[in-house]
Amino acid sequence: MAECIFCKIATGEVGKLVYEDEYVAAFDDLNPQAPVHVLIVPKKHIARLSDLSEPADGEIVGRIMIVANRLARERGITDDGYRVVVNCNEAAGQSVWHLHFHLLGGRTMTWPPG
Ligand code: 5GP
Ligand code: ZN
Repeated sequence: MAECIFCKIATGEVGKLVYEDEYVAAFDDLNPQAPVHVLIVPKKHIARLSDLSEPADGEIVGRIMIVANRLARERGITDDGYRVVVNCNEAAGQSVWHLHFHLLGGRTMTWPPG
């Protein structure tokens, strides 16, 4: 996807990755909403959560969650607590059309989300 900014970041064309493997990339959010705010994405272009196809994409989502745990540990937020969020489509607040998991932590969160 030539025009997708998260594809460009995930392939290392622009920006800086904080984690990378064959399937998954992660980078700090441009506009952080918490002291730790990392975006974790599949390297493969998937526009939104509801576009996941089974069973193939299940492994990628599992890998993303393991990466979230790893980054949380590295950033020292595991014991206090952290949140992993996906916004799917406009009403949920999705604004970039490449699936991304927000890892948020380093402050106390409120519930329910806005
Ligand atoms: P969404 O609203 O789709 O759930 O989240 C999109 C996130 O991507 C936002 O938190 C926004 O700050 C972040 N973002 C948008 N463009 C860029 C970019 O070019 N680089 C980085 N690092 N983050 C971005
Ligand atoms: Zn993309």
